Amino acid sequence: MATEGTEAKIEALVLTDPPAANDATPAATEATPSDPTAPVAPSAASKSKPKKQDKERKDQKAGAKSKPQQQSKKTDSSTDTKSITEKKSGDLSEWYQQVILKGEMLDFTDIPGCYIYQPASYRIWEFITEFFNARIRKMGVKNCYFPLFISEANLQREKDHIEGFAAEVAWVTEGGKTKLEKRLAVRPTSETAMYSFYAKKIRSHRDLPLKMNQWNNVVRWEFKHAVPFLRSREFLWQEGHTAHLTEEEAGKEVLEILDHYAAIYEELLAVPVVKGVKTKNEQFPGAHYTTTIEGFIPAVGRGIQAATSHCLGQHFAKMFDITVEDPNQQIEAGAKRDKLHVWQNSWGFTTRSIGVMILVHGDDRGLVVPPRVAEIQVVIVPAGITAKTTEAEREQLYDEVYKIKQTLEAADVRVELDLREGYTPAFKWAEWELKGVPLRLEFGPKDAANGVVTTARRDIEGRDGKGTIPVADIATGVPALLETIQADLFKRAEKEYAEHRKEVTEWKDFVPTLNAKNVLLVPHCLGGECEDEIKKDSAANSESGEVDARAPSMGAKSLCIPAEQPGAFKEGQLCINPKCGKKAEKWVMFGRSY
Ligand SMILES: [Zn+2]
Repeated sequence: MATEGTEAKIEALVLTDPPAANDATPAATEATPSDPTAPVAPSAASKSKPKKQDKERKDQKAGAKSKPQQQSKKTDSSTDTKSITEKKSGDLSEWYQQVILKGEMLDFTDIPGCYIYQPASYRIWEFITEFFNARIRKMGVKNCYFPLFISEANLQREKDHIEGFAAEVAWVTEGGKTKLEKRLAVRPTSETAMYSFYAKKIRSHRDLPLKMNQWNNVVRWEFKHAVPFLRSREFLWQEGHTAHLTEEEAGKEVLEILDHYAAIYEELLAVPVVKGVKTKNEQFPGAHYTTTIEGFIPAVGRGIQAATSHCLGQHFAKMFDITVEDPNQQIEAGAKRDKLHVWQNSWGFTTRSIGVMILVHGDDRGLVVPPRVAEIQVVIVPAGITAKTTEAEREQLYDEVYKIKQTLEAADVRVELDLREGYTPAFKWAEWELKGVPLRLEFGPKDAANGVVTTARRDIEGRDGKGTIPVADIATGVPALLETIQADLFKRAEKEYAEHRKEVTEWKDFVPTLNAKNVLLVPHCLGGECEDEIKKDSAANSESGEVDARAPSMGAKSLCIPAEQPGAFKEGQLCINPKCGKKAEKWVMFGRSY
């Protein structure tokens, strides 16, 4: 349902070269060769599969038509270490790839665009699932499951819908050695899979509203540029499908779901979003209207569609003949009531959200995972153990460390204790930072003597991010600090997004402001052709300006009509497009986008 596979052609953030890991570990020390836990970094790209990696690299490259400057990065990657060697402000694509691989969020397979979700990223997905399920159950939505395959006849029943998806449907044509009589589509979304059933299930207005949701995978075999999480051939999502008696009731639900989607981003992932409605040009194929939340990637100044909730109107109900008798119609005794087509909604939230989170919060040291979705929230690293430390002293310290761990676990903190031998604390710190663990606790003899643990926040580098909490208070102090980190991550991202949402009313400022890594709020006529013209003209003009070198030709498209409008237009305000000349209807958010 989310249209994120259909239209945009990504020209940046194209992944080309999964690095073959070279497990040099600069910060590691005196590990003996026989030590099975020696710091051959448990890094992402596996050493044991060089062939696969090579093949993958080739495939990714072929698919991505990689450009020379991206290929040259390979040299950097192949002499790689466990730390991130590219700056976020440098080649974002290279940075992103290193962060997700070395941070063990995801790995590649031998099929381009199909990825392995490692436990750290899948856990985030589980948090999202739990959060959203709790909310939709309160709305009366029930979870269910429909088949992966859709018959061609069913898929073709809504014309606009199939047109929107035709280019990216994967088909099954053979079973074993037998050619199928009728090919089967692998679902790109399930409207057409579900609505024949809805026609059967909905017999009377008493069967309404019908609210079903499924958590599943879908396949969209379209893109040229695969980007892990953001744009993949197979991805995970939930798709909700509901039927209502009236447009009003359906419309109310569309917005309620959009609020829940915004809450997942803002309350769990600490990522700010802007709520709005898509223009006709950008709405879901077959929808009456599409509401959306739009995120922002500051590093490149681009918008990104975060999730969408659609009112499908009665289009599908007409194609699938989903009707009830009008319960409100006054009729003579014995007469038949008129049939009404139901009003339907569909809404989807995908694993793309994890990629957005990584792009927004990650830094030059790796992942930064918000505490509420972190698989590991706190890592305890013992400190101050030297050659002079006696066995008894060490044991005493470890005893106290174990107690700290137990206390935190009892307080529902997800905590890991790093007692690996043969690594310096500095090496361990760097590794947990790479994985984005929100809070590190250091505990050594000095801390023990003072009755405190030393805290080090992942989101604030160096001394500024350090503090202490009395050991006696950790059961409340640590959860409180985690919540502070969560809140601060959101606040920083929100401020950055707000600063990069610029109101522009004159065309001469449009492209320069766009090139300064902003999204724009502009007066617009809401005309589709005008929108296309803006996209074309902002692309052509940007070649002379200072833009992202990897995507010099990309124009700005409409991201949404924000629900919260900046304010009234001045009298007689025209559309920003000088070739248009029509009256401005709304402030519309335009930007380059993923
Ligand atoms: Zn216009």
